Amino acid sequence: MRASQYFLPTLKEAPSEAEVPSHIFLVRGGFIRQLAAGLYEYLPLGLRVLKKIENIIRKHMDDAGALEVLLPILTPAELWQETGRWDVYGKELFRVEDRKGRLFALGPTHEETITDLVRKNIRSYKDLPKNFYQIQTKFRDEARPRYGLIRGREFIMKDAYSFDVSEEMAVKSYEIMKETYNKIFSELGLDYLMVEADTGAIGGKYSHEFVVKAANGEAHIVYCENCGYAANVEAAKYEFELDKLPPEEEKPLEKVHTPNVSSVEDVAKFLGVSPKKIVKTLIYILSDGTAVAVLIRGDRELNETKLINYFNVNDARLATSEELEKMGLVEGFVGPIGLDLPVYADVSVQDLHNFVVGANEKDYHYINVNIPRDFKPIEFVDFSTAREGDPCPNCKAPLKETTGLEVGHIFLLGTKYSDAMKAYFVDKDGKEKPIVMGCYGIGVSRLMAAAVEQNHDENGIIWPESIAPFKLQILALNMKDEKIKEVAENIYKKAKEKGIEVLFDDREMSAGAKFKDADLIGIPHRIVVGKGVKNNVVEYQHRAKKEKEEIPIDKVDEFLEKLR
Ligand SMILES: [Zn+2]
Repeated sequence: MRASQYFLPTLKEAPSEAEVPSHIFLVRGGFIRQLAAGLYEYLPLGLRVLKKIENIIRKHMDDAGALEVLLPILTPAELWQETGRWDVYGKELFRVEDRKGRLFALGPTHEETITDLVRKNIRSYKDLPKNFYQIQTKFRDEARPRYGLIRGREFIMKDAYSFDVSEEMAVKSYEIMKETYNKIFSELGLDYLMVEADTGAIGGKYSHEFVVKAANGEAHIVYCENCGYAANVEAAKYEFELDKLPPEEEKPLEKVHTPNVSSVEDVAKFLGVSPKKIVKTLIYILSDGTAVAVLIRGDRELNETKLINYFNVNDARLATSEELEKMGLVEGFVGPIGLDLPVYADVSVQDLHNFVVGANEKDYHYINVNIPRDFKPIEFVDFSTAREGDPCPNCKAPLKETTGLEVGHIFLLGTKYSDAMKAYFVDKDGKEKPIVMGCYGIGVSRLMAAAVEQNHDENGIIWPESIAPFKLQILALNMKDEKIKEVAENIYKKAKEKGIEVLFDDREMSAGAKFKDADLIGIPHRIVVGKGVKNNVVEYQHRAKKEKEEIPIDKVDEFLEKLR
């Protein structure tokens, strides 16, 4: 492709709303343009990247036996009403009305649609298993679309759905997808983690997220370099047994005056004890209206996702000062002794001796508190947020912490949708049973951004080879110089003959501007045809490396051969 005939609207400045490298460089590099908040146009360069990502995904999905379909973007409201999600989804669901007043949603996901297709067309165990996938535009009415392709209102997803006769078979389908996803993300050339995910209210151990490591990611992950374990901080098990304090003789309970001292840090300092011996008492209001007290050791952070899952509620929040006052409690001095609320404790409190809690009285704490002598929690539960340095649940090595972008999620659904929508099959024994489902998503357009988040420098993008818009870029530094023009044209012709995807920068502009654009666009291999032609050499450079290499013009053919 000749740059002079292509569309390379590169920009010197990033748009003011661009905050993260992928947004900045994809716009500046002429890959995408914003139409309206959260809506992007893919320009020729950007579409090339997108298609490459799609094709890698498609190849591995096909290899795994999944069958590609294409479902309508408009999905009838009645299907969403069958599963209850018309109401549950809230404002994020884009709703539209046709001329007859019939309601539809612009699909953010397609469980309902695909389940409807299957219940109408699959009747017998002989037709199962099946795995259908599509690569398609999805919609979500984000309150705050931001970060370019990372959080848009319209985006491209690969979504797949498996259908099996039993949970055992569904697990097999799930495992095949897990393996397939690893192949996909490896071929994309990204540094990623397969993460044990929080399965939400549904529960179960079959949910994994695929997270591309990136500084700007919103996913917080702990992982083990020793054994490969990785989990979201809200799903990671806290190995409290390995983090316990040594046992102690129980001392008599004592109420002490702690004037104006209420934070863990201050109480620790005032009483001269470790924060590990101070137990925080947090009063939570669950979304069903109940108030509970949750205890956790002073050096640990409570994870609200773990709390929400444990109580099987939609949401939970800390009680406000006014609510505490109404319950007769004093903010900063709340404690479990004599408390008229259900008391639960994080596992970090288990086997803790002679610890400190609030005395439910202004400016007082209890010291030398012991369980079960002084109070008894209903249950010890893992509510702790995992963090760097915690022991790995598998191998006990210290965990590392990183942030990343979630680009894939696989999930064993069970019969949630088939029960709700009556997607049954007739089994070998002649009985009707619900089909067991799994769902598997990949954020295709998000992957494009994630690849840039992970692979860039201050000058622009450094595309992984497998998804680069072109493999080779030829820069002719001065097209008015006959020799340079001739050599560059010749290399371009040869590269094309060898089937190498090549962008030939033959534009009439300064060498400096061409180098700037090349760095910004990030094509991996670069041949520079400049003054060296007088000495019969051209220059080669890889986008990721600083070193330059001279190639004699008569060796270029050999060099191109290696690039194929
Ligand atoms: Zn480990």
